[in-house]
Amino acid sequence: MSGKAFFIDTTVCTACRGCQIACKQWNQLPATETENWGSMQNPKDLSFYTYKLVRFSEHMGPDNKPVWYFFPDQCRHCLAPPCQEAAEYNAPGGIIIDSLTGAVLYTDKLKKANAEEVKEACPFNIPRAQKGTGYMSKCNMCVDRVNNGLLPACVKTCPTGAMNFGDRDKMVDMAKSRLKEVKAKFPNATLSGLEDLRVFYLLADKPDKYYMFASATSAPKGMDRKMALKKIGRSLKDLSREWQMLNKLAG
Ligand code: SF4
Ligand code: SF4
Ligand code: SF4
Repeated sequence: MSGKAFFIDTTVCTACRGCQIACKQWNQLPATETENWGSMQNPKDLSFYTYKLVRFSEHMGPDNKPVWYFFPDQCRHCLAPPCQEAAEYNAPGGIIIDSLTGAVLYTDKLKKANAEEVKEACPFNIPRAQKGTGYMSKCNMCVDRVNNGLLPACVKTCPTGAMNFGDRDKMVDMAKSRLKEVKAKFPNATLSGLEDLRVFYLLADKPDKYYMFASATSAPKGMDRKMALKKIGRSLKDLSREWQMLNKLAG
């Protein structure tokens, strides 16, 4: 398996949010207005201007003391991206895969796609549309930096070693080896994404304790009718038009 990958070790993430800010800086994204919504996590969600978000989740530990789980959320750069499949019918070429890194990239052609369908197709709830324009955005793997020999901005800035990036096979090895190391301290620790993604997470506990879209297993699965029709290249509207024409001919 070629290309690059991230290994995100949440067991050493301190939620400093350096990665979140570095992403904004490198991609020249404006700040988003925040509010006190009862959590240390801010902003509340990803947006057209926020590609990376450190999600906070608080639980009661076995000794009745609160524990925090931190989840640096971003596009997983799927090996076979469902978002690309959903966009291809209305916006061919709207989502492409960089041949060197494997990064999944959104182009201006994506404007012709149905933004809701693209978002719904993503098992990790990542893509976001800009209000009023139809443009969509998400993490681009800092492909401009990576293809010039630099680390992604979020990886470069991480002070604890939680964010790692490199050749995919090396990241797989690093993830497996860290899992072995942390098992004594975190017996429920798991890895996600090794088979089909370019972003792997080491989680100290079950994925849904971090965030409902932390892994594809905690997110809704399967193909709905719209996706099935898209796979054969036809929309519901086209099918009903064809059906009406056939009825007229038969009559
Ligand atoms: S920079 Fe590293 S330690 Fe800080 S929030 Fe991001 S992943 Fe966690
Ligand atoms: S995580 Fe979502 S947005 Fe990213 S490549 Fe996969 S389907 Fe597309
Ligand atoms: S790889 Fe680049 S675009 Fe993606 S989250 Fe990190 S800093 Fe943001």
